[in-house]
Amino acid sequence: MTSIESKRVQYRKYLERAGVIDALSKALIKLYEEQNKPEDAIRFVRKFMCESCPDDAQYDIMKNDLEEAKTHIAKLEQELERLRGQIKKSPEEYQELTIAGYKSLMDDEENVSSLLRKYLSPELLEEYMLVTTPAPVDAYLYDCAVSGFEHHEAPLGIYAADADSYDVFNKLFDPIIKDFHNQMDNENDVLQKDADFGNVDEIENLDPERKYIMSARVRLARNIEGLPFFPKLTEKQFIEVEEKVRAATETMDGELIGSYLTMSDIDAETQAEMVKRHILFARGDEQLTTAGCYRFWPTGRGVYHNPAETFFIWVNRSDHVRIMSMALCGDLGDVYNRLVNGLAELEKTLTFARHPRYGNLTACPTNLGTTLRASVHIRLPLLSKDPDRLFALAEELQLQIRGTDGEAAHIEDGVMDISNKRRLGFTEFELVKTLQDGVVALINAEEELEIAGQEG
Ligand code: ADP
Ligand code: MG
Repeated sequence: MTSIESKRVQYRKYLERAGVIDALSKALIKLYEEQNKPEDAIRFVRKFMCESCPDDAQYDIMKNDLEEAKTHIAKLEQELERLRGQIKKSPEEYQELTIAGYKSLMDDEENVSSLLRKYLSPELLEEYMLVTTPAPVDAYLYDCAVSGFEHHEAPLGIYAADADSYDVFNKLFDPIIKDFHNQMDNENDVLQKDADFGNVDEIENLDPERKYIMSARVRLARNIEGLPFFPKLTEKQFIEVEEKVRAATETMDGELIGSYLTMSDIDAETQAEMVKRHILFARGDEQLTTAGCYRFWPTGRGVYHNPAETFFIWVNRSDHVRIMSMALCGDLGDVYNRLVNGLAELEKTLTFARHPRYGNLTACPTNLGTTLRASVHIRLPLLSKDPDRLFALAEELQLQIRGTDGEAAHIEDGVMDISNKRRLGFTEFELVKTLQDGVVALINAEEELEIAGQEG
């Protein structure tokens, strides 16, 4: 006998001796004899074999207990978060954490591309380490950089903890902003032009025949003047933001009329379903988590929207306010028009943080300036078969290509998210016009490929 065969024989003997073969045979015979064969045969066998298995009623009780325990844990975690938030770190602790975080970032030889790593010199670290933004926020450099200290792969690695962070730590933020927004050669005192939404009528339906574009969306980010940004919002201030925005939506008119839903009133299933339809946000982003974005979740979070689901305000997603307008077609003009009206309505009662050099202030420096991202979800099957050409074209047209499930996703089935790449240095109108012109050019390129395909 080969050694494998002898092992097999040994194993069979063992199974017989232990009664496994017998038990399995009995289960299979029982199933064979069963008049109404059960849909779930495995469950049947499992039940037959397992004397101490819970019956359905016991199972339901256990499931219930588990759900309750989960809810309880979530509450305790929230409580823990709240208590943690009350512990004030001493300047010495801040100093220690900053030095340790900086060291781990600089010692990492694999992830070297973050702008925080590029621009936070040892001299700047020394200068800023114990400086804070004005009371009562008292944000340290650490509060802005903690996420980049931990996530070395982050492209930027820094968030502003409050509006003052941009000035107090300016020698760090300014080069990061200029670098990210391609403004390295810009020596002007003002990087962002005045707001100008232009002539809305010049923005049009980019796909009246509904051949290519599945949806269009334009979003803006805003933060309420006088309140810190998410890294330093207190629990009370999360609620204060929500209250202020809710009050501001009460005067909405016409197609903007809708209702406000606070996150804790939306059950988990509905939340997941809304996120899937791109109309609600979820927690989870790791860089934002480390930066403190999800503290006290779901407190103060929520969404305002009209019944047609074409106008949305996300509250405390990261910035205090994300305003967005959508349509399930290519009518960018309609979308833009609604967005401009919605913003104007909010601005009647809310004052948003603005900077003389950087325009509208956001926690993440990538969104500064106009904060505007106009996008279409579009299917270009032929062009997307030639990614080199597609990405070269997009680059030339100042467009960014993403997958359709948020920032990091990949292109599936020729469907992608195309938007203006730039946020800062141009007017709102210029950026929306960039998208319009660029998408028209891409559709033309797709149509040329279609014709070439028919001819060839
Ligand atoms: P932003 O930073 O502009 O909010 P994200 O890429 O993080 O963009 O996307 C947020 C959500 O909005 C995602 O669910 C995304 O699929 C959705 N979204 C973005 N653009 C469109 C669009 N043109 N049509 C439909 N949904 C969109
Ligand atoms: Mg985003």
